Amino acid sequence: MKKRKRWKNKGKPQTVGQSSADVIRNIRFLKPEDEFQFECSLCGECCRNVEHSVMLEPYDLFRIARHITHKKRNCSGIEDVIQKYADVKTIGDSVFPVFLLKTRGQRKECVFLEDGRCGIYEARPRACRLYPMGAWPNDAMDGFDYFIATERPSHFKDSAIRAGDWMDQNFSSYDREVTLLDAAATVELAPILRDLEKNGANRDTLLQMMLLHRYILFETSEPFIPQFMRNIACLKRRLIGMMEGSAL
Ligand code: SF4
Repeated sequence: MKKRKRWKNKGKPQTVGQSSADVIRNIRFLKPEDEFQFECSLCGECCRNVEHSVMLEPYDLFRIARHITHKKRNCSGIEDVIQKYADVKTIGDSVFPVFLLKTRGQRKECVFLEDGRCGIYEARPRACRLYPMGAWPNDAMDGFDYFIATERPSHFKDSAIRAGDWMDQNFSSYDREVTLLDAAATVELAPILRDLEKNGANRDTLLQMMLLHRYILFETSEPFIPQFMRNIACLKRRLIGMMEGSAL
């Protein structure tokens, strides 16, 4: 039988100035059989001081747009969600766009926090579903490496939870499939984009193409995965067309 490790909080609470760098500094890797102690007191603190730290993946934006359109009828689609609720950045000096949830007020609380509760709970982003855990595709891209974010130590008390059980409850098989497909697409597209940039392709054009195909060209009344596959195949064709000097 494998030995279980239990992660215990030893740090001090940190509630201000949290950023994605703080989150990354405070992660610990876990195996499915490891346990951690966690209690949600519904205080909403996980959703405050989150400036530039909650990433919105393509399926997150799709799911939020579908949810808001359905529930509140004041959303005209994914582009509208991006404009109202997300900030766009690029990863390092690449042309890979990343969307991050907007925050408001001095406490830098998430724009979706309403009276201390998540206003889009059923459609909350993957990062929020898995919190305090997270998952990255493993090197073989056939499964996930798990980690726990420990930047808010006050939550780590009471009941012990097995990491694998937490993931089974909060990371659906559809979410896993989408995450692996997106990671595979990223690995496939990255060298093509690098080559195009080296050969003088316009960065803004590449960024626009990435935004359109990876995030925006979706019909939220249709299933996500077939559209994602079509969009990525189309993007790849267009990028290869540019490489060959005949932009499609
Ligand atoms: S989307 Fe919901 S759960 Fe996630 S940070 Fe915002 S309010 Fe909190």
